[in-house]
Amino acid sequence: MKKINKKIIKRLIVVTSAVAVCAGAVFCSYRYMDNKTLPVIGSVQSDKPVIVLDAGHGGIDGGCSSADGVPEKGINLNIVLCLRDMFEINGYDVELTRSEDRSIHDDGIEGIANQKSSDMDNRLAIFNKYPNAICISVHQNQFTDPKYSGAQMFYADTNSESKYLAQKMQDKIVEYTQPENNREIKLCGKELFLCYFSKNPTVMAECGFLSNPEEAEKLKDEDYQKQIAFSIFAAVNEYTSKGK
Ligand SMILES: [Zn+2]
Repeated sequence: MKKINKKIIKRLIVVTSAVAVCAGAVFCSYRYMDNKTLPVIGSVQSDKPVIVLDAGHGGIDGGCSSADGVPEKGINLNIVLCLRDMFEINGYDVELTRSEDRSIHDDGIEGIANQKSSDMDNRLAIFNKYPNAICISVHQNQFTDPKYSGAQMFYADTNSESKYLAQKMQDKIVEYTQPENNREIKLCGKELFLCYFSKNPTVMAECGFLSNPEEAEKLKDEDYQKQIAFSIFAAVNEYTSKGK
């Protein structure tokens, strides 16, 4: 989005100010406030990196699920759509791997395994489409023991910037959304296909555990999804605004 009108900017100011005082605010509900003195986060300019947002899974691949059967694919998409709005309103160009509940495999591919493989190849092609991009893949976690909770960022060492970005995202999620979370970012290998083979700074955000009933309730809540999205947005924006 190239043009940003003043009203939207003012709304954004309210959104970004709100997070400093209340992590429970509804960040995608932009409320109007007439205050011309506050700055927009970052500067609106065209040399910003393209933001590639990947909502994990989709279509027949629901990903992991909460105990009451809510799959992560919809939660991932909600967070990504919220992130898209936040980035676009701040002057970033955004590309999504999917904007609806579907797999993005090539037409004519037969069989679930082949479709999944094609889907992942196509997602990676979007990750590597732009030489100047930042790629975020959004997922929810699951474990056999329901006691575990908390977001965790994954990165590969195939891009030297990814670790730094992952730490920033981890820090912002803890600061704004999960103050009790003391997880550390985690290095991944080829098993996280998109992270490993992406040529751009890339982080996979496991936003929380659907296997933890308490956290699952939060993750299903749209306001909480917006808080997670804002935390990720703030981290990426800080990363790009400071040149690292
Ligand atoms: Zn997943």
